[in-house]
Amino acid sequence: MPIPFQCSVCGFSALVEDAMAGRPGKCPECDAALRIPPLSAEEVTRKKETAEQARLAKIADELKPESKPTPEKPSKEAKLLASINEKMASVEQDVRRTREHVGCLLWIVIASIALSFIGALMQLGRY
Ligand SMILES: [Zn+2]
Repeated sequence: MPIPFQCSVCGFSALVEDAMAGRPGKCPECDAALRIPPLSAEEVTRKKETAEQARLAKIADELKPESKPTPEKPSKEAKLLASINEKMASVEQDVRRTREHVGCLLWIVIASIALSFIGALMQLGRY
């Protein structure tokens, strides 16, 4: 943050960079040799605090990914697994349905064979 300073000779005021604090300089207006005022104790403390906060924020950012227990959206693998499970369930249902149909057909076939067998026996009985 730039620091304000005022030329003691001509009264010209300007803002200079932090890095210039406490260093000798020259007034751009009257060319008088000046000393840029050093950072005040308050500013030094604030700077330190800001640096500390930035450091802590950086650490917090670095820790964030590890502290996340589960990703918010399901992973590709989980989605794939879910779709496979769904397919398996539908296939199982199809198999069950087909079995029921086959069972029905089997009874119809047995019944018709039995009927024709009975019919054949009756016809044989006539002779
Ligand atoms: Zn000056």
